Order: sequence, then structure tokens, then C-alpha cells
Amino acid sequence: MELAEHQALIGIDIGGTKTLAIARTHTGEILGKILEPTHEGIDIASHTVDVYNSLKEQVTQFDLDVSSLGIGIAGLVNVSGGLHRAPNLVNADGLQIQQLVESKVEVPVHVDNDVNCAALAEIENGAAMGAQNALLVTLGTGIGGALIVDGGVYRGAFGMAGEPGHMVVDPDGAMCACGMNGCWEAYASATGLRNLAIRRAESGRLEEISKAVRGKFEEIKSEDVTRAAKKGDAQSVAVIDEFARWVAVGLANCAALLDPELIIVGGGLVTEWDLFEQKIRASFDELLVASDQRSLISIKPAENGEAAGAIGACLLGRAQ
Ligand SMILES: [Zn+2]
Repeated sequence: MELAEHQALIGIDIGGTKTLAIARTHTGEILGKILEPTHEGIDIASHTVDVYNSLKEQVTQFDLDVSSLGIGIAGLVNVSGGLHRAPNLVNADGLQIQQLVESKVEVPVHVDNDVNCAALAEIENGAAMGAQNALLVTLGTGIGGALIVDGGVYRGAFGMAGEPGHMVVDPDGAMCACGMNGCWEAYASATGLRNLAIRRAESGRLEEISKAVRGKFEEIKSEDVTRAAKKGDAQSVAVIDEFARWVAVGLANCAALLDPELIIVGGGLVTEWDLFEQKIRASFDELLVASDQRSLISIKPAENGEAAGAIGACLLGRAQ
């Protein structure tokens, strides 16, 4: 691996609203970083190539060569690097992004789902260090997931494993962004938390927040609920209780199937982990079959924050 010391890895995490790119050494030293908005309707392949070229320029100042480019994308990525169902990216469905980008750069290109990338970051230096069988769930606008099996990220037969957000938890339930009814993410994401709050406000059970938005319930944000709950507003605490219960429903379903040693919770809502932790733990233990007779499944927050996807995308090149 002597050669690796003189090589840099570049990882680009393309989200629906922003793109974060990181260049680093094999040992984790950060060499450069670019944060840019992902403009709506953008040509994803040329955007990626542009960001790669800018970052590569920064790397050459260190007298290092780039050895690979990893791309993490919020969407389903098949085993040959094709993109499917990327709800936040326009013009991305069916895009052969791996081939397109690789034809324009001089290094091998690897593509995976952004949460699978985040799992690689947590395995290398984070909450999943040393874990053999674990689950990463990200609670953000939607719910993302990644399965860690035998110490590596499990991709399934076609590359699309680990998407628990669209497990149906209530077939007659709330409408999900995907068009189906009752998906887990319609309840247990930031969007879900907002939906639960709006429903309570509509039935007169969220008075303080309803007053603050002057009765315009659609203006309620998930942060309004967490903020009010932290200040002790009992009706907001009740929304958090309901939300935590829904998070636990999905986690217990996943645990019944996978028997992981560890569940890592990441995504935007993890900044409020203290507010949710005990409530999720209590409902999870209640909902998981034989929880009093099995080894404790630890539930903890992710450690790599917003950079997890880009760091993990760097590691895609090393994992091959
Ligand atoms: Zn759905």
C-alpha cells in the first residue's frame, strides 16, 4: 500500500439541495472540500465532473494524484451504477451516472446510495466501528437506510437493499411522498413529525404552536415542535411521544428481520437525539418480539454528521 500514501480519494455527495465534495488521503486527512447548491434541473453528470475537476485542482497542490472518484446519491443505485427513483433530483431517473462520469474523468468511478456511503464512514470512524451486523437509519426529509452485514455494506441482489422508509406501517394511513399510503417515512421522518403536528393542530390539540402560526397549520415546521417540546409545552411533548413511537415501530420491524447488534440513527433529526432517545428505546423494547430475552440491541446516534455521505463516497474507491 505504499503507493496509496501518495494518492487522494475524492467523494461527492449529491443531495437534492446541496452537493458536498471532499478530497482526503487514505488515512483520513482532509485535503479539500467544496460545498455547492444542487440547482433544480441541473445536469447531474456534468455537475459532478465540474465539482470533481475543481477539487482535483486543490489536491494537486499537495503533490498527490487522485486514485478514484466515489459518488453518493440520494436515490436507488443499481449494481452497475445506474440511478433510479431519485425523488429530489430532476432528470436523474434511469441515468447511467457511473458510465457518463467515468467517460469524462481519468480515474475509476464508483456510485452508491448516499446512506450506504454514510454507513462506510460510520464503519471506518464512527458509531459502527467494529460492528459486524448493524442498521443505519437516517431520519431527514425522508428516511434512508443502510444494512451492515458481516462488517460491510450489504447491497442486495440488484444494489437497492436497505430502504426501510417505504415499508408500509399503516396501509390505510397517511400519504407518502412516493404516492403510496402509510409508508414509515410518512410518520417517522422530519416530514412525518410535521405531519403529526399538523394533524394535532387541526384537531385543536396543539394550541401554542397553532397560535404562533396564526392558524396557518401548513406553516408548522418540525423544528417548531422540537423547540416547544424542549421548553416543556405538554402538547408538543405529546407529538414527540407519538413520533418516537412511530420511529420505534419501524426500528422494531427492522430488528425482527435482521437481528442487528446495533442500530445507528442519523439524518437531520439526530441533532435532537436527547429529546427522542429514551422514548424510542422504551417503545422499541416494548414492540420487539422477545426483547427481554435477547441480547440488548444498542441504539445510538451517527457520529459523522453532514459530511458522512461525502466521506463514505471517498471510501467507495477503497472498498472495491
Ligand atoms: Zn413511500
